[in-house]
Amino acid sequence: APLLALRGVGKRFANAVTALDGLDMEVRQGEFLSLLGPSGCGKSTALRLIAGLSEPTAGRIDWNGADAPRRAGGAGASGAGAISFVFQEPTLMPWANVFANVHLPLRLSGVSRREAEPAILEALEMVGLSAFREAYPRELSGGMKMRVSIARALVTKPRLLLMDEPFAALDEITRFKLNNDLLQLWRQLGCTIVFVTHSVFESVFLSSRILVFRARPGRVFAEVSIDPAQPRD
Ligand code: ADP
Ligand code: ADP
Repeated sequence: APLLALRGVGKRFANAVTALDGLDMEVRQGEFLSLLGPSGCGKSTALRLIAGLSEPTAGRIDWNGADAPRRAGGAGASGAGAISFVFQEPTLMPWANVFANVHLPLRLSGVSRREAEPAILEALEMVGLSAFREAYPRELSGGMKMRVSIARALVTKPRLLLMDEPFAALDEITRFKLNNDLLQLWRQLGCTIVFVTHSVFESVFLSSRILVFRARPGRVFAEVSIDPAQPRD
């Protein structure tokens, strides 16, 4: 069974813009799914609906088993979160160091600095920033800030990682490096990733499956499955 399924989902905003209409899609357990399409075709809207940051105005989102209630609760007292979201902007707290920034989602669910430390150090290790735990955001490059943002998303050990054009603002070389590292991370973690991008290269390089969106109204019009037996690195 899929992890979740959108059935006939529509999203019409108060300004009468119909961002999505009749969207049917599934997210399967453990896959790296890209939502690919031009700007304005509703990819971010679909991701925000999956995250529960916004409600569909038509259709429904079906969650498999226990995921929906866990999603509503966010990261529980155990710190085990069902969903994490990474935005295009790293949105770090400028007054807090890297360690404290990565602690944030656990702190919000009541996990102390000391209790959270092993998970924070593990997340920093995964993104290659162990040596920068005391650094402040202003001391970091754009790519490093994005790595901190990814560590902050991973610290709750999410089952589902949602990423909205996370590398779009980075230079091409940094972006390629982060693409490689994200692919390794996904293989190592075994979590499900839904990744929004308008880059064909990025979607083909990263994904096990691509849903191609078209605009007006936003909807999936093509699906590409990438042979997992085919080496991609
Ligand atoms: P994409 O992520 O593919 O670029 P979006 O999902 O961001 O597309 O946007 C789809 C359409 O919905 C666009 O026309 C956008 O301007 C519009 N839109 C997105 N969010 C809002 C909002 N909060 N209010 C009104 N219109 C919105
Ligand atoms: P991103 O493209 O990085 O996902 P947003 O999700 O913030 O950025 O916005 C997506 C699109 O929706 C943009 O084109 C933005 O101008 C438009 N949009 C966002 N909020 C509104 C809104 N309240 N009213 C109209 N358009 C909006």
